[in-house]
Amino acid sequence: MNDDLKAALLDRCRRMEIPLVGIASADRWKNPPFQPWMPEEFYPQSIFPEARSVIVIGLPVHLPVLETSPSIYYHELYKTVNTLLDQYTYRLASFLNACGYPSVFVPRDGYGSIEVLQKNPVAFFSHRHAALLAGLGTFGVNNTLITPEYGPRVRFGSVLTAADLPPDPLLGEDLCTRCMLCVRACPAGALDARDYPRGLTDKASCAANSAELARRHISPCGICIKVCPVGEDRRHYGRTTTAGGEDPRRRARAHVQKYGGL
Ligand code: SF4
Ligand code: SF4
Repeated sequence: MNDDLKAALLDRCRRMEIPLVGIASADRWKNPPFQPWMPEEFYPQSIFPEARSVIVIGLPVHLPVLETSPSIYYHELYKTVNTLLDQYTYRLASFLNACGYPSVFVPRDGYGSIEVLQKNPVAFFSHRHAALLAGLGTFGVNNTLITPEYGPRVRFGSVLTAADLPPDPLLGEDLCTRCMLCVRACPAGALDARDYPRGLTDKASCAANSAELARRHISPCGICIKVCPVGEDRRHYGRTTTAGGEDPRRRARAHVQKYGGL
């Protein structure tokens, strides 16, 4: 186990202002914490046979921007976070390569368009499952990974590396409270607690909703992560309730939603 390399990597992440970083050994995919699990071709070593560790980073989606969703504001935030994730994971892989450890980044999404997603709603690698195995959170009824810091309002990117890095422990506590706010709020009726933690109940309905928002230039949806009460970010932004918000917030949302999309 390379403790010094992990310390150098974490220092680099700090300097890049990456708030969430976790490390999983690639072997963890073979001993998953729940069933059914994914087929072996989705494991890190199937994608990059040299992989011994997976580094997962998380960047938050700022709650007040998400509260305007669906909107051009959240659409642009989503794109910005995705770009940063790709750049950070690429740079971290480059750092590890320069240190002598073969490494590759995995881009944050793995599909070309919503149309592709509607035909085949699975990516070649799951960052959410990687984040779970790297100890960053636990799955919620809304099929996202919920973190103590930001609830489900986080996007993840990963690096597959030949370096043998000390892994982080998995979170012991299940963070989803089963409040079912996400199930009730979903405009597509795509969520069902009975499918927890195996996946989204109705991917086709979710993708159809996304396709319509994309046509209006205000995708993604994000309602099921907006309403989730878990996460320190709620306290940071003074959002102690998830109900529609007070008048100034409603006015802000109404204003933003009038512009920038169809
Ligand atoms: S993204 Fe929107 S449509 Fe999809 S599950 Fe969440 S709330 Fe439902
Ligand atoms: S909204 Fe409630 S049920 Fe849904 S993921 Fe969050 S805590 Fe779980």
